[in-house]
Amino acid sequence: MSTAYFSFHGRLNYFLQRDQKEKQIHVDFRGMQSIKHLAESFGVPHLEIGQVQVNGREDALNTIAQDGDRIEVHPIQNGCPIEPRFLLDCHLGRLAAHLRMLGFDCLYQNDYDDSNMAEIVQHDERILLSRDRRLLMRKVILYGYCLRSLDPLEQLMEVVQRFELKAKVQPFHRCLRCNHPLEMVDKDVILDRLEPLTKKYFDEFHICPNCGQIYWKGSHYERMQQVLTKLKGGEV
Ligand SMILES: [Zn+2]
Repeated sequence: MSTAYFSFHGRLNYFLQRDQKEKQIHVDFRGMQSIKHLAESFGVPHLEIGQVQVNGREDALNTIAQDGDRIEVHPIQNGCPIEPRFLLDCHLGRLAAHLRMLGFDCLYQNDYDDSNMAEIVQHDERILLSRDRRLLMRKVILYGYCLRSLDPLEQLMEVVQRFELKAKVQPFHRCLRCNHPLEMVDKDVILDRLEPLTKKYFDEFHICPNCGQIYWKGSHYERMQQVLTKLKGGEV
């Protein structure tokens, strides 16, 4: 039997049990085990991990652990290594709408199962967002984030911060319902579809060419403004 001693830093402590947080913790193991595997045995998904040091020297996550190793594990740094396109698990419909509201490409369907999602991120290079650690621990998932909050607006702030999206926000760019990019549309073209008050007070409209949904600065706009104000106000 071998033993490795782990110290998890910063936000990785979120994943540990209460009596393990901010402490050196040990794990006993047999045979050849990678640092990645042992770290995940504590509940820390590999894609949340950044720098790793073994006995004071920088090392790789797939290194095989040796008896007596002292392993420091740091969280992955904020930023986005690939284009910010997301896949959200079936519990995150409201977060998907919020992210689309800010213009981000988000695949979301409430009937995707774990294997569907693993396949999609593998072939379509997307970032997986989920609260399901087991799903995030799948080997084929290279980019992802485990949401901490249950509140969709707080989740949005987490994602914007983690992937440094603030400068990439493009409001009125994507359909909240189906994710398709929006186009400008002349008021005359859609006049018969507008309610009397909308007709009276608004002149600028966007339409989704895929599902036909119409957007104007009354629909979702106030909520979006609040989110944008929060983002610009430096709360994220
Ligand atoms: Zn649409």
